[in-house]
Amino acid sequence: MRSLSVLPYMVFVLLLWIALLSVCSTRAESNRATERMAMVTEQIVARGVKDPATVAAMRAVPRHRFVPRIQAASAYADRPLPIGHGQTISQPFIVAYMTEIVRPGPGRKILEIGTGSGYQAAVLAATGAEVYSIEIIPELATAAAARLRELGYGAVQTRAADGYYGWAEQAPFDAIIVTAASEFVPPPLIEQLKDAGLMILPVGSPFFVQTLMLVQKHGEAITSANLMPVRFVPFRRAE
Ligand code: SAH
Repeated sequence: MRSLSVLPYMVFVLLLWIALLSVCSTRAESNRATERMAMVTEQIVARGVKDPATVAAMRAVPRHRFVPRIQAASAYADRPLPIGHGQTISQPFIVAYMTEIVRPGPGRKILEIGTGSGYQAAVLAATGAEVYSIEIIPELATAAAARLRELGYGAVQTRAADGYYGWAEQAPFDAIIVTAASEFVPPPLIEQLKDAGLMILPVGSPFFVQTLMLVQKHGEAITSANLMPVRFVPFRRAE
């Protein structure tokens, strides 16, 4: 009898808890959105990124959903963050800078090497580009594919493989973004660029500062330009 009489009370307390938790999480989401808008103004636009599609994508994609829960409060800070398996999500400015350079938007077919969390792929997809992304660590590839689907970027095609070989079945690409540092530009990736295609990638020793390079294909000729010093995780090769 006694246990029956406390039941409504327990249900009431439980419902109160659920309501409280949902108010807290809604508030946390709106705080994150405010942080994201500030991040775009202070770190992206203030440093010269102008492309409207890139800026809009950086405002739209919820970066805090791409980092481990414990890092969510730092998601909009001006630095890279760990995403597990010894890998990192790049600093927001670097993501925006690399995005702007490949001129993303509807009708552009873009390949990313190094899906990681899926954030860069989501930013590209948010511009309307058709995105393909390859990740060498299977656990990261699986988690990123699920996350992209859950957050509404399910159109991004993902694959767990060594990105050195590119994605021959889908080539050629208007642009390729490589988000891991290699000692040289992988020849299959140059091969898979369209004529007038663009590739942006960090080149140099994995243990030091590397150079962010812009490579362009003009028929048989290849030109390259050094953009800025950067630090990326190493480009790995499948054993
Ligand atoms: N673009 C990612 C950043 C990932 S860090 C993001 O937005 O979160 C670089 C990623 O490249 C790592 O996840 C690493 O595992 C991956 N990587 C390294 N070498 C690779 C290769 N040969 N092919 C595909 N992915 C590779």
